[in-house]
Amino acid sequence: MELIKNRPAPKAKAADGVAVHDAEPVNSPERRELYHKREPIYPKLVHGKFRSAKWIFMILALGVYYLLPFVRWDRGPGAPDQAVLVDFANARFYFFFIELWPQEVFYITGLLILAALLLFLVTALFGRVWCGYACPQTVWTDLFIAVERLFEGDRNKRMRLDKQPWSFDKAWRKISKHAVWLVIAAATGGAWILYFHDAFAVLENFFTGQAALTSYLFFAILTFTTYTLAGTMREQVCTYMCPWPRIQAGLTDQQSLNVMYRVDRGEPRGAHKKGESWEGRGDCIDCKACVAACPMGIDIREGAQLECIGCALCIDACDEIMVKVNRPKGLIAYDTDLNIERRMKGEKTQFNLLRPRVILYAALIAAVSGLMLFGLINRSELELNSYRDRNPNFVTLSDGTVRNGYTLTVLNKAGEPRTLDVSLQTDPMMRMRVIGATEAAPTRLAVPADTTQDFRIFLSLPPEAVDRASEDVTFVVTDPATGETARTEAVFITGEGGR
Ligand code: SF4
Ligand code: SF4
Repeated sequence: MELIKNRPAPKAKAADGVAVHDAEPVNSPERRELYHKREPIYPKLVHGKFRSAKWIFMILALGVYYLLPFVRWDRGPGAPDQAVLVDFANARFYFFFIELWPQEVFYITGLLILAALLLFLVTALFGRVWCGYACPQTVWTDLFIAVERLFEGDRNKRMRLDKQPWSFDKAWRKISKHAVWLVIAAATGGAWILYFHDAFAVLENFFTGQAALTSYLFFAILTFTTYTLAGTMREQVCTYMCPWPRIQAGLTDQQSLNVMYRVDRGEPRGAHKKGESWEGRGDCIDCKACVAACPMGIDIREGAQLECIGCALCIDACDEIMVKVNRPKGLIAYDTDLNIERRMKGEKTQFNLLRPRVILYAALIAAVSGLMLFGLINRSELELNSYRDRNPNFVTLSDGTVRNGYTLTVLNKAGEPRTLDVSLQTDPMMRMRVIGATEAAPTRLAVPADTTQDFRIFLSLPPEAVDRASEDVTFVVTDPATGETARTEAVFITGEGGR
């Protein structure tokens, strides 16, 4: 890092055909004060493989977000046919062929744990690729900047326009930009509510004023947050609001790949004239193209900074320059701290992907995925719960028989109605009565398709068997058609000795 201190002042021309960008990092630690007014950042459009990757990822991410609610999935008659649906009204979550009940919320927990572990793994390997490519804040901000560029031009034009006094030209550009931003924000809020009801019905109801109040409320909230976060707050969300930059430092190590300025190759930096030797100097011509391209307004050459979202646009910007000055690409590149240190000591570089933390995250991901897969494959379509009456705990009839009341809750997750048989595993003297059952079929329970149904049940123990305070009971329901069973444990209270 000693080399950095000896850098010469930038000149208007960094090399033949390469102008110095009028770009000072606005977000550098030295310029950042607690109550410092935000300086606008005007990221310059760059071209290159990382920019292309970001465009592709943006199209895919936005395409999935906006179109997924319209994808249909046939689940049979009576069941919703929307592929991804969070059905609060009926307490169901549908994800293609998976249908989760409230009792199976652990799958959602598992999914969140899996997502966190994946994020840990990817961060340990490649630094902040989530922030740079996949985070919704990045994706929408990128889209909003593209719209801004469309109406106001690239960096220099935008800077000039902002300094200009108000005119018709400036007004229509600004108004058009904000109008398109609002349309995108409204589409974002609109798409969000489509995930909670049938998308086609919601669309129709929404525009005819028939949708639920909550739909309009969430539409308004999402529209407002998209417009402000991606349109006006931008990098401030990442720098001041998001906890992830603080956390991710603990997930990386010296061997994590990160977007880095290769100080060992770039310094001492300075303008370069055609024909001049590159001997004794670095490859950085101090053109500041990397600073001009940075959407976070930082200078990657100052080393690792909290603001850097790892978007790699500075790599594209610098590679373009390296081609112009006929030097190898990769002055800014994905590299590791360890390799930079090793090269500065004259040692060979080495990449070590299989490190203990990477192996640990991968093993945890495999374990959680395996458990979830096992759970899904062996997922039962029949579940049973029982709740004993508490008030009173038991009733003693005139002949000394003790009776307990229960509510048996049967979950039929299948797409067809079922007729089930309920039986008991307990003291053979115990008698069971299903309220509402016929004499011909006293243990028969009819449960409609995809439904939770409650049944009232009384258990009775004759006086000669009442010789202990309680008795363990197991309720078993069996589907005679499929042989599938479900059971639940309960307790029968006699009051004996504890009355
Ligand atoms: S790192 Fe590359 S883009 Fe940045 S100033 Fe140096 S030469 Fe220019
Ligand atoms: S320094 Fe480079 S990688 Fe980091 S945010 Fe700026 S452009 Fe993206």
